[in-house]
Amino acid sequence: MKNIILLGAPGTGKGTQAANISKWYGIGHISTGDIFRSNIKAGTELGLTAKAYIDAGHLVPDEITIGMVKSKLSEPAYKEGFILDGFPRNIPQAEALDGYLLEAGGKRIHAVVSIFVPDETIVLRILGRRLCSNCGASYHTVYNPPAKEGLCDACGGKVVSRDDDSEATIRERLSVYYAQTEPIIERYRKLGIFTQITGHEIIDETSDEMHEALKKIFCE
Ligand code: ADP
Ligand code: ZN
Repeated sequence: MKNIILLGAPGTGKGTQAANISKWYGIGHISTGDIFRSNIKAGTELGLTAKAYIDAGHLVPDEITIGMVKSKLSEPAYKEGFILDGFPRNIPQAEALDGYLLEAGGKRIHAVVSIFVPDETIVLRILGRRLCSNCGASYHTVYNPPAKEGLCDACGGKVVSRDDDSEATIRERLSVYYAQTEPIIERYRKLGIFTQITGHEIIDETSDEMHEALKKIFCE
C-alpha cells in the first residue's frame, strides 16, 4: 500500500505529477480542486458554496473539505493507496487526515513530496494555463498548446482558462499557500517522509525527478 501526499503552490504541476504517480503505483488520484470543479460544473450545492471561495483565491472551509475527502477516501478505489493532490492544505486538514487514517485500520501516510517553483514562474505558468471544459485535460498556451487552437486533443472539447486563474487570484492563492499550507511540511519532515523536488519547464524532467524521489523514499 502506498499513501502519498503531493504538495506545492498552485501552478507547480501537481495535477500532472499526481496522474503520473497514480499510473506508476496503481493507486487512485484524489484532487480536491477537481472535485470542487466538477461540482461547480454540475451545479451542486457543494459546488455553489465552494465557487465563491475558489474564485476569491481562498480555501474552501474545512467543514466542507474534510468531510468530502473522508468520504472519497472510504471508497474501495483507494484501498490499495492514494495520491492526494490539493489536500491537506492547512494544519487542521492534516490533523483530520491523520485521525481518519488511524481510525481506518491504523493506516498512515508513507510519502510527502513537494514541488518547488519560483513565484514569478508560477504566475507566468498559471496565466497561460488552459483546461478542457469537457474531459479536464490540461494545456498551456506556450509550453503545451493543443494541436488545434482552443480544442482538446483528447476529446475535441473546448479548451478554456479556469475562472480562478486571474493574476490577482493567483497572488492571493500564493500567499494562502505560504501562510497556511507550507507550515504542514514540518509535521512530515519530522516523520522523515518529506522530500522536495524542483518543478522544471520540461514536464518529463519533473516526472523523472519525481520518480527518483519516490524510489528513494520507498527504497526501490
Ligand atoms: P491550485 O493548486 O492551482 O490552486 P487546485 O485545483 O488544487 O488548484 O485548487 C483550486 C482551489 O480549490 C483552491 O484555490 C481552493 O480555493 C480550493 N481547494 C482545493 N483544495 C482545497 C483544500 N484542501 N482546502 C480548501 N480549499 C481547497
Ligand atoms: Zn478533452
